[in-house]
Amino acid sequence: RFIALEGGEGVGKSTQAKRLVAALAERGIEAVLTREPGGTSGAEMIRKLLLEPPGTGWGVQAEALLFAAARSDHVAKAIKPALMAGKWVVCDRFVLSSRAYQGLAGGLGDEEVRTLHRIGSGGLAPCRTILLEAPGDDVAERLRMRDGDEADAIGGRNAKYHADVARGFAGLAQGDDSIVQIDASGSADDVHAAVMRQVEPLLGV
Ligand code: C5P
Repeated sequence: RFIALEGGEGVGKSTQAKRLVAALAERGIEAVLTREPGGTSGAEMIRKLLLEPPGTGWGVQAEALLFAAARSDHVAKAIKPALMAGKWVVCDRFVLSSRAYQGLAGGLGDEEVRTLHRIGSGGLAPCRTILLEAPGDDVAERLRMRDGDEADAIGGRNAKYHADVARGFAGLAQGDDSIVQIDASGSADDVHAAVMRQVEPLLGV
């Protein structure tokens, strides 16, 4: 089973991904925790190209291609082999991020991003995409508290861009049954419980 956790900066995705993997382990399910961009040594190199300041100032098209290249390596070398070995995979960001960031907020367009993704993902789709959503103020506060903050590492993004990302995510979730929206403004425990309510139906299926 392949679960993607999605959402904007500082919404608690990484914390929830770790807690989900730990909860699965308690149930005797081995799950691999991974992230995008990254997850393999090649994809982590691409992550550095994208995120390390001062940043190259990629155009949105080049940016989307780099994300797709990172995904291709990640899917082929990490995600698919883990799934083939019968493990679960929990991924911190996947295609919905590409669609919200590069496609909608970045202006590349959803169709373009989906075309790149078809190649980058090798046809793999999560069986559940969990979208964590929180009002902007909360997120700003969490970002201030977070160490090693990489938010806005990709040059010149402003609050409007991130508001567009949040609206993009919400719009993409509408009418798509494979995406569940979770209010992430509560405590980490509450959000974890909500995540587990979505994952439990997949156990033992
Ligand atoms: O989730 P994480 O904080 O590791 O993401 C790293 C950075 O990559 C964030 O600044 C996020 O905005 C950016 N990103 C992006 N487009 C994606 C995925 C992530 O701009 N498709």
